Amino acid sequence: MIRYGQQSISENDLQEVIGVLTSPFLTQGPKVPEFEEKLCALSGSRFAIACSNATSALHMACQALGLGPGDRLWTSPITFVASANCALHCGATVDFVDIDSDTYNLSIEALALKLRRAEKTNTLPKVVVPVHFAGQPCDMRDLYSLSQEYGFHIIEDAAHALGATYQGEPVGAGKYSDITILSFHPVKMITTGEGGAALTNDPELAHKLQLLRSHGITRDEEALAAKGKADWYYEQQVLGFNFRMTDLQAALGVSQLDRLSSFVQKRIACANYYDQHLGSMLLDTPHRAPERCSSWHLYCVQVDESKRDLILDHLRSSSIGATVHYIPVHLQPYYQKLGFSLGDFPISETYFRQTITLPLHPDLTTDEQDLVIDTLAHALKL
Ligand SMILES: *Cc1c(COP(=O)(O)O)cnc(C)c1O
Repeated sequence: MIRYGQQSISENDLQEVIGVLTSPFLTQGPKVPEFEEKLCALSGSRFAIACSNATSALHMACQALGLGPGDRLWTSPITFVASANCALHCGATVDFVDIDSDTYNLSIEALALKLRRAEKTNTLPKVVVPVHFAGQPCDMRDLYSLSQEYGFHIIEDAAHALGATYQGEPVGAGKYSDITILSFHPVKMITTGEGGAALTNDPELAHKLQLLRSHGITRDEEALAAKGKADWYYEQQVLGFNFRMTDLQAALGVSQLDRLSSFVQKRIACANYYDQHLGSMLLDTPHRAPERCSSWHLYCVQVDESKRDLILDHLRSSSIGATVHYIPVHLQPYYQKLGFSLGDFPISETYFRQTITLPLHPDLTTDEQDLVIDTLAHALKL
């Protein structure tokens, strides 16, 4: 099976992890801060808080921004369920904003319209979560100006987009958002097995995120309520979680981050190769919006909706792990029970019925890409 995405593990990755296994610390040692410093250097963010996965990063980010009962979070329907679930975990409610039919990112026009209406009914969101779908950044400048006008916070879900740039700056630099979250799941841009991070430029948010990650406990002398205590002393100041990353994971992350730019280059080359060879077929290749470079986490094509399942079945039965990103979140049974239904976000629903994700990862060979292209060409004629 040619998988749609998978990790790339080098000899150095292995050595880094083995190094931690034979060291005194498997967790809460030096590797997590080293990984965090490296994330900051790469993204231009002031603070990085590494954690157990992007789902926990989203949860902490919402809590750090004070999202709670009575509040609203809005996101895109075309995302992984975690981008929406984080609001419900905080006791807030979720709503969605339909996507742009070119980029498949949350539509700024649809957002502006929904905000105007929500203002009249006093139902404005506290947090909006743009998702940089497939690795292509959202229109962050326009989103930011709406956030200034209507007073909401922004959490960038950059689970797909580590290594992408927007207006020449790395995703994570945080010029237009409060917090950016990353995922290091094996199919994402780099991996730590499971893993995630929250990036921010705000020292207060960073402190809150650090507390939430580890039970609400601090040992930081400046943050302690009691002064002049011994070095073993600690305080629980808020109700937190154990969302920590281990040193084993962080060591893999440090080594993987050294390979990030080569991963992105390889993904760009694969995307260009697909563009070149699929351009003349009966399908739409991904749209490339100006002012940004995608990290190409995913390569999604759009086909005739009446043939989508047939094409997908043919690819999958030919050992090509093509798949679908995503089933719109509002159509999941759980969300339908909350009151969402078919027809609520028509552009997302049309996108879903037409989309196929083709294999794309750093170790994909040209032979494998050729097989995908030939099999797809055949399937389109079925
Ligand atoms: C993968 C993903 C997540 C969740 O990441 P985990 O690290 O698996 O928790 C969240 N949002 C998006 C858009 C994702 O693709």
